[in-house]
Amino acid sequence: MPPIGIFGGTFDPIHFGHLRLAEEMAEAIGLSQVRFIPAGQPPHRGVPRTAATHRLEMVRRAIAGNPRFEVDAREVRRPDPSYTVDTLTVLRAELGNEQPLWLLLGADAFTGMPSWHQWRQLFTLANIAVAARPGAQLMRPDGLPEDLKHELSQRRVPDGSATGPAGSVLLQQMTALDISATRIRATLARQGSARYLLPDTVLDYIHQHQLYTST
Ligand code: ATP
Repeated sequence: MPPIGIFGGTFDPIHFGHLRLAEEMAEAIGLSQVRFIPAGQPPHRGVPRTAATHRLEMVRRAIAGNPRFEVDAREVRRPDPSYTVDTLTVLRAELGNEQPLWLLLGADAFTGMPSWHQWRQLFTLANIAVAARPGAQLMRPDGLPEDLKHELSQRRVPDGSATGPAGSVLLQQMTALDISATRIRATLARQGSARYLLPDTVLDYIHQHQLYTST
């Protein structure tokens, strides 16, 4: 059964760092599909400044044309905050216990995992693939919180092959792209150019709807 990738984020806006992460993970692990799941109201950060409908539409435009990529609107449709553990529980029930699942995370998100709701549960629901991100100390696990370091020592696998439905952690190098949505928003707010940091189709949408015009 080919594995499926689950990629959550605020995507405010989606950019090439996100898209390369998904593409490189799909290739490295052999994912048949990557589901992008824009967060509705992320519990761990301020309310995203852009309406969920816009963030969803930007993801749609960004992934159009990639047959492996899909968008999943379940979190943006919910009025309440969605925890990753809840979303994965529902996906697991839909897809069955045998389906290998890979939760895709950037290194900064992985480092912060011990503050997530029921974070240890996540290992029972999915495998976790962590992408190196410029600025985040991924390949030196010494810098990780103790609890997470312990989990990693038990669960780390050298590659994505021959893993079960859940429970493994893969640390994966990816092309370093020092792009962040925060910086794109700031650039757009000062009327700077964000071209080549994100797809033109997304940038057109941003201009059309006058998103990110102020900080
Ligand atoms: P913000 O700047 O608003 O915090 P962001 O650019 O970090 O946004 P998110 O939507 O918060 O984007 O990120 C979703 C996921 O993508 C997270 O797991 C994050 O670590 C990862 N990610 C984002 N940008 C990159 C990048 N340039 N390289 C690798 N991973 C990334």
